Amino acid sequence: MMFKSTKGQSPDLPVSQAMLMGAAPDGGLYVPQGFPAFDLDTFGDADDLPAIAQTLLTPFFEGDDLAADLGAICQQVFNFPAPLVALDNNKHALELFHGPTAAFKDFGARFLAACMDRMVNKNKPLTVLVATSGDTGGAVGCAFAGARAAKVVILYPKGRVSSFQELQLTCWPGVTALRVDGDFDDCQRLVKAAFADQDMKAQYGLSSANSINIGRLLPQMVYYAAASLALYRGNGEKANFVIPTGNMGNGMACLWARACGLPIGQVVLAQNANRAMVRFFDEGRYAPAPSIATIANAMDVGNPSNFERFDAGLAALNHDVRALSVDDATIRAQISKEAKLSGHVWCPHSAVAAFAYDQLTKGEKAKPWVIVATAHPYKFRENVEPLIGKKIAPSAALAAIKDMPIAVRDIKADLSALADVLSAAL
Ligand SMILES: *Cc1c(COP(=O)(O)O)cnc(C)c1O
Repeated sequence: MMFKSTKGQSPDLPVSQAMLMGAAPDGGLYVPQGFPAFDLDTFGDADDLPAIAQTLLTPFFEGDDLAADLGAICQQVFNFPAPLVALDNNKHALELFHGPTAAFKDFGARFLAACMDRMVNKNKPLTVLVATSGDTGGAVGCAFAGARAAKVVILYPKGRVSSFQELQLTCWPGVTALRVDGDFDDCQRLVKAAFADQDMKAQYGLSSANSINIGRLLPQMVYYAAASLALYRGNGEKANFVIPTGNMGNGMACLWARACGLPIGQVVLAQNANRAMVRFFDEGRYAPAPSIATIANAMDVGNPSNFERFDAGLAALNHDVRALSVDDATIRAQISKEAKLSGHVWCPHSAVAAFAYDQLTKGEKAKPWVIVATAHPYKFRENVEPLIGKKIAPSAALAAIKDMPIAVRDIKADLSALADVLSAAL
């Protein structure tokens, strides 16, 4: 299968070439030319993530240089579980935080790294540049630590990430962490300026590991496939999902999985105070806005980058999908309430989805629903512990990060400072 740009002005590419490009040269994002229509029997009785991943992703890799490696890539990447936990009759949590940095971004970042690592001899220098407000940089740094193919350079804003997030950005061997004297928008501006500089782009082979990269989105379809197949095999009903939404990468992956014929019904995009998708569904027009800071900070996105992909596939994707926005006070109340009632502890992002679930009608709740839990609450313990009145224990992976040595460089928020670092790193 070939991938096309949402803007339609760039040549179509096979998937691994589209991954190397990051965004398309015309400024659009890569999307598949079409969605394979799966017959559920194709999955046989496969119920482990690597097997489901291989079946689901094979059509997207058909004709690609990495087609023969796809099985090995899936085995390597999907080596931790995505458990579907029953919370109540018909109410489930899909826990996507059992990877090494305890957020769902591990799936996409590890898949992208595994693919890029296999392109090492086929291409020139490759430098993955990532601007992060916290979670993305950690997952990408971890995924690429020790990778042969790519140098990774992470830019994060000084004094604006939590202490645990900073640890997770600066602890990966071989990964360059840059603490930028500025805010997240400055970091993003620097990365964009570097990509726009054709000399820099060519010299360092710049690519992106944000969710604009198709290599992060495709593997995220896998856990939606696995969860919906598990529920469907159990009761013959479609699974409905509530998804914490920021840049809408995770939401897109679910809608794409549904477009491939997986048994998925309704999709609710749960946003924090940043309500671009809510406005789109309410008013029928897309109006990006400056981002608003919230306690679910990985979703502080006023202009979701994947909207462009949604828009490009509107006819196939825009049915049985809606959005809802939740403010910080409501997020806090939801975390406290559920901890008290059932002992279940959500991270602030997952709590947005848990609240959205509670708003469903009785009729809707009679069907199987899945609340997507995107991060381990320990990562946000400064906010969560006071709400539940007790300490949260780290997962084993998070506990290990606590003891790793860190390395970081401070830079000014200008392109020449970034260029100096890149030339020294090569
Ligand atoms: C990135 C992130 C989100 C938002 O996901 P998108 O794909 O950007 O919509 C939600 N929760 C957590 C914990 C995240 O790290």
